[in-house]
Amino acid sequence: MLKLEWLRMPQQTAYGCLYCQTAASFKGDTARMPKTCPTLTHEEIAKDIQGYREEPLKTLMQKADRTPFTPDGVLRNRVEELIFFAQEMGYHKIGIAFCVTLMPEAQTLAKLLREEGLEAIPVCCRVGAVDYSEIDLPKAHPERFAAICNPVAQAKLLNLAQCDLVVQVGLCLGHDIILQQTCQAPVTTLVVKDRVLDHNPVRALRG
Ligand code: SF4
Repeated sequence: MLKLEWLRMPQQTAYGCLYCQTAASFKGDTARMPKTCPTLTHEEIAKDIQGYREEPLKTLMQKADRTPFTPDGVLRNRVEELIFFAQEMGYHKIGIAFCVTLMPEAQTLAKLLREEGLEAIPVCCRVGAVDYSEIDLPKAHPERFAAICNPVAQAKLLNLAQCDLVVQVGLCLGHDIILQQTCQAPVTTLVVKDRVLDHNPVRALRG
């Protein structure tokens, strides 16, 4: 756990947010912002909203703003948000880049997307059946075949299918970066892999 004293420590390169006691930006309360608040120290960046007035960010921001709640004010869960957002954005082909250990969840997601009239294009992380030894990765059991995760192929297959949006489901840390760098479509993460905490890493950040 981070101690409050540590959070108060000034840090040469840190913006004020890490040890801010006020979160005054949340309320637009300039007077209560700390001197190191980037709203004050980097106004030219923090206040530059021109991009949001232009496409494509204008539409993205409007759709994102409508995503958390139904018209009746009921909160959507993240899967419901994903479906709503995809429909609002006019996305049709939804790629699912999933970890083999989460295949049942990926199958459920594909079913839910299809029930909502969206096309689901799932691709498993082990696609290609490339052995660890082929890229010089160490194996626990050198005599046995062990398939590497292959996020480049995952992304290229999703590119080939001309997905409008790619959804990550439990990719390993690092492989997720490669996938995002290789995908032509925008990528969103539905499930973050955490092998210890049932894919809920926020539990490691709370007391
Ligand atoms: S933006 Fe400013 S007010 Fe908001 S959390 Fe960061 S330092 Fe605090």
